Amino acid sequence: MPDRDGRDLSLVFLIDALGHEIVGSGGFLDALVPPERPCVRSILGYSSSALPSLFTGCLPNEHGHWGMYRRSPERSVFRKYAPLLRLAGRMPRGQWRVRQWLAGRLRRDGITGYFSLYEVPLRLLPEFDLCERRNTYRPGGFDRVPSLFDHLEGAKVPHRIWDWTSTPAKSYAEMEEAARRGSDRFLFLYDAGLDSLMHVHGPRSAATVSWLRDCEGRISRIVEAARSAGRRPRLRIFGDHGMAAIHTHIDLLRDLQELPAEVRRETLGFFDSTMGRFWFASASARDAVLGLLAKRDGGRLLTREEFVIHGVDFPDHAYGEEVFLCDAGTLILPSYMGSEPLKGMHGYHPDDRDSNTTLLADPMPEHAPRTILDILPLLLDDLGVSPLPREGWERGGPGR
Ligand SMILES: [Zn+2]
Repeated sequence: MPDRDGRDLSLVFLIDALGHEIVGSGGFLDALVPPERPCVRSILGYSSSALPSLFTGCLPNEHGHWGMYRRSPERSVFRKYAPLLRLAGRMPRGQWRVRQWLAGRLRRDGITGYFSLYEVPLRLLPEFDLCERRNTYRPGGFDRVPSLFDHLEGAKVPHRIWDWTSTPAKSYAEMEEAARRGSDRFLFLYDAGLDSLMHVHGPRSAATVSWLRDCEGRISRIVEAARSAGRRPRLRIFGDHGMAAIHTHIDLLRDLQELPAEVRRETLGFFDSTMGRFWFASASARDAVLGLLAKRDGGRLLTREEFVIHGVDFPDHAYGEEVFLCDAGTLILPSYMGSEPLKGMHGYHPDDRDSNTTLLADPMPEHAPRTILDILPLLLDDLGVSPLPREGWERGGPGR
């Protein structure tokens, strides 16, 4: 759509966990956007891969990000702290203090990407690396492919971005001001508030309804600010995945304790909230663990075919040689992400209806996105921007 008089302004809101099952049939921004709310399929993974897929229009094996933690003892950002982490891992108390100190050190070491140390056992950290070393909301965020932020920079589109480094109150207030007085063509805001809230209170809670009502007010004020400044707002509101209600907990760590000591020594596991990822030092350990997982209720092992279909077949198996995926509504508890029960979770199979996100748009694009990979082309098309070529893209782009 050509912007004849320079008044068009893209207002883009990426609301983490804005599920189609939650707002797809209305009840959120009904006065501002048309009622069509397409079902937009997510990918297999958490925000650590769904957001990169949204920003690049690629599957995980193309942009390189899947779980927040990937196995890579040689390149691990934790490697130089290994002796200390081995000691600290044996401390009965005060480990949270070590985590706080370590997170600060990593920031000083130059890690600008989003990460959390959660409750990953300290002694195991040096086995793993953070997949997001650089802030992915900036140009040059990905090693192998350009992202939305590279395309905006490449086409010299005047724009502003608010990401997880800013508080929501500050982000919305600054965006309102930019809509009222700025001359940008593209304003983009990321909000993780709904995701955190639904983890604690559940997707269909009173807290969710109240959060959505507040958010509606914030977005409406920004649209009003743009209109009062004589701009023509183009609204794009979407999530990276949805959220399922939790009904079952499984304790995979305890299950594995039942295996012989030798099997446990030859097995490395990483326990996300809905996935157990495994690496094996011997065929017998592999057989024993796979045998146990095959009998486990609440989830199943991913097949080789599924690794390929979902674009999570990494040749170096950095994200796991084998993956146990929970059924929707089942939570691994405790996991390396936490030991408190939760009421909502995502990171299930994308076929599960609670995994879908949606798009609230005004005007509605001619072709509604079918998956989150279709969002990037839509945002660029709105601006009349052609994407930068992927060929020859290396670590932040050619010539960088
Ligand atoms: Zn989440």
